[in-house]
Amino acid sequence: MAKKTAPETDSAPELSFGGKWLYAPSREATDHVRIAARSELFVGGEFHKPKSRSYFATVNPATEEVLGEVAAAGAKDVDAAVQAATRALPAWRRLSGEDRGRYLFRIARILQERAREFAVLETLDNGKPIAETRDVDVPLAAQHFFYHAGWADKLELLFPGVRPEPYGVVGQVIPWNFPLLMAAWKIAPALAAGNTVVLKPAETSPLTALLLCEVFAQAELPAGVVNVITGDGAAGAALVRHPGLHKVAFTGSTEVGKEIQRALAGSGKALTLELGGKAAHLVFEDAALDQAVEGVVRGIFFNQGHVCCAGSRLLVQESVHDLFVDKLRRRMARIRVGDPLDKNTDMGAIHSAPQLARIRELCAAGEREGAVMHQSACALPAKGYWHAPTMFTGVAMSQRIAREEIFGPVLAVSTFRTPDEAVAKANDTAYGLSCGIWTDKGARILWLAGRMRAGVVWNNTFNRFDPAAPFGGMRESGFGREGGAQGLRAYVRLPGGLAGA
Ligand code: NAD
Repeated sequence: MAKKTAPETDSAPELSFGGKWLYAPSREATDHVRIAARSELFVGGEFHKPKSRSYFATVNPATEEVLGEVAAAGAKDVDAAVQAATRALPAWRRLSGEDRGRYLFRIARILQERAREFAVLETLDNGKPIAETRDVDVPLAAQHFFYHAGWADKLELLFPGVRPEPYGVVGQVIPWNFPLLMAAWKIAPALAAGNTVVLKPAETSPLTALLLCEVFAQAELPAGVVNVITGDGAAGAALVRHPGLHKVAFTGSTEVGKEIQRALAGSGKALTLELGGKAAHLVFEDAALDQAVEGVVRGIFFNQGHVCCAGSRLLVQESVHDLFVDKLRRRMARIRVGDPLDKNTDMGAIHSAPQLARIRELCAAGEREGAVMHQSACALPAKGYWHAPTMFTGVAMSQRIAREEIFGPVLAVSTFRTPDEAVAKANDTAYGLSCGIWTDKGARILWLAGRMRAGVVWNNTFNRFDPAAPFGGMRESGFGREGGAQGLRAYVRLPGGLAGA
């Protein structure tokens, strides 16, 4: 077979799938994206109608308007996608790392060129503010492709003395809270290492993953190297169980993660799981309190609190509790909630009606169990799914709001007196994804960081993401890392069973 090399130029080809534009092309990118009435499955480098003949609606959470219909993949569609990835594998894994890197660089550049289009579409489909999609989600997604493009021809340096091999065909399932970013986190390292991919985005936010398929085609990524199938949990379950996969990477709830782990036991497939969290901020009396207030606000209200590593528990030293809570209340009152397409909006819509119902249920439980609720008095739009920034004080560690992942803009505040008590309370959770330490004392930071049972420990900052920094959890937050050298390791098979988590 002739060696396939990456294209040298950046000239964007005319893209039409079956004679129709799926979305507006980047050259004409404006505030308006054109969304197809029906979006199909991306299999073998082309958009195909589902063999299931079934579609579902995707809704703008800020308005409850239907944005379009999306194909619901059935078992035969999942099989066709895995077959396409299997056919693409031999040529893709034989390609030099340099050439794989070229494709990834190209995808990253096109993503940057089409950034505005992606930001608007993500905001429409997800409900998150345009300031976040524009400044965080889309640039970080491009950075992930850039970062992994750089590693594609240097894998031998990462794993010296061994010959790293790709797993083969990888099935990836992602959630709705960072749809484009999660797709980039999953796809970029898999391709850099020489794997081919079948990705299933979440059913409530599938549009940017489909737009990303246009980018793959524009970058002339060989057909079948990435396939995107849309659908609900049944499609996800069919994908992860497909016997043609060599590895599964899942990001989502702990409940589904456990189910997948059980289903894959004994199958020989490698598995990484990025699951839920219940992170604590520890605020000590010597911390720069105003800076800590900003960090805590960002930690819980960024992305409406739909963040697995959200700082949803605040443990504040008793001596500064009243002062800190007062500062927080005043800061919360200034959070602008509303139209996600307005660039001045801080907090957008809750992603879905079921998610809003869950947040309300947990807030009611918090009040019933004796915690005191404070909500900012912002006016919420009449249509759509909305929840005001919320804080509970006087929270006991046994209460549901202290134990369960709310995945919404709700902060649970408790106190501690000593560093030992702070550590005990912070670690008093089934999860272990992240935590934040706010103190002026470097020695204390080091002392605490070694004792926190969390995959990510932020010091005097929170929710900082970098493609070079490994991200992932322990205990019920899952296993395996994404980002950095550790993230790549999850996509290569090393001799001696070293690969994987
Ligand atoms: P979810 O588990 O309900 O769904 C996640 C994805 O899994 C979706 O694509 C869904 O269709 C699919 N799915 C559902 N049931 C499945 C099954 N039985 N088999 C295979 N796939 C199935 O989670 P969600 O509500 O979409 O996302 C929120 C959760 O994701 C939160 O718990 C959050 O903490 C977690 N999350 C974790 C990280 C991380 O990196 N640790 C990042 C983002 C979100």
